[in-house]
Amino acid sequence: MTDAAPGKLNDPFPDPPQHGAAHEVAEGILWLRLPLPMALDHVNVYALDDGDGWTIVDTGFASRTSRAIWQTALDGPLGGKPVRRVLVTHHHPDHIGLAGWFQADHGAELVTTRTAWLFARMLRLDEQHRPTPETIAYWQACGMDADVLARRAEERPFNFADMLAPLPLGFTRIREGDVFRAGGRDWHVRIGNGHAPEHATLWSDDGDLVIGGDQLLPSISPNLGVYATEPTADPVAEWLEACERLSAFATPGQLVLPGHKLPFTGLPLRLQQLIDNHHGALRRLEHHLEAPAPAAGCFQPLFLREIRDGEYGLALVEAMAHCLHLWHAGRATREVTEDGAWMWQTTR
Ligand SMILES: [Zn+2]
Repeated sequence: MTDAAPGKLNDPFPDPPQHGAAHEVAEGILWLRLPLPMALDHVNVYALDDGDGWTIVDTGFASRTSRAIWQTALDGPLGGKPVRRVLVTHHHPDHIGLAGWFQADHGAELVTTRTAWLFARMLRLDEQHRPTPETIAYWQACGMDADVLARRAEERPFNFADMLAPLPLGFTRIREGDVFRAGGRDWHVRIGNGHAPEHATLWSDDGDLVIGGDQLLPSISPNLGVYATEPTADPVAEWLEACERLSAFATPGQLVLPGHKLPFTGLPLRLQQLIDNHHGALRRLEHHLEAPAPAAGCFQPLFLREIRDGEYGLALVEAMAHCLHLWHAGRATREVTEDGAWMWQTTR
């Protein structure tokens, strides 16, 4: 991998594994995939060979399909050896979905950050049949279209409980600066933020490999969203801080094993692209907000394309995140309308 040109992204493994199969991407490190029922139709997971068992990194959604694929992999490429540990990069259901199943049914130990565990377990237990008043108020603050709001108010919302196996009590914490041994290597734990709070990334001590989760993705920009749980959060600032901090450890030859899409090299360039993309979006937004608008009125300058129905929710929380970032930085003001929408306007 060391001959990768600096300033260039490469994908040395262009063919993803079939469901239940695995590709060895480095000695003792297997790459597997699980399906997701969304536009982003897969998640990458990794199995690290510990000799008498496996450490797996991330799990896919909890579903009958995912469990069947895991069983095929366990009986096939994983050679019938037990999964002793599940390391979860962050609390999103496509990553932590089956962690509880591995704990309860396979006797595995769950290893993750404290925030990831707390968020996942809290949201798993907080099942809602209709959106809460706080969520409705937050959607109004975003300026959600009245007809979309009326429809969503009568629908079952996105529930972690629908995609996550129950999480038993107890986990092992990893934090910034820890060294974690798995797959015949020592890995330095470095913490990302912005896409998910306290997102773990793992950097091999020999400098060859990085397990990136959704913090380090090629070709797609991770969603930065604000939710009713913390309606004035500034994940864009946290994201930019993490990208800049992690850049100090990035080298052109490292093979990055991401949570989605293909393994890649060229991490210094990729981090710079991720940083530049948000600064560009913020400048366009600042220009757009010379006339006041709610977050829901900012899709075009931010995303530079039409947002389809299936993307509306993610686009809305990401638009809110960018408006809030301008506000926190003193680059925009906020006024509340009679119907509860926050109208943003550039300060100049
Ligand atoms: Zn994620």
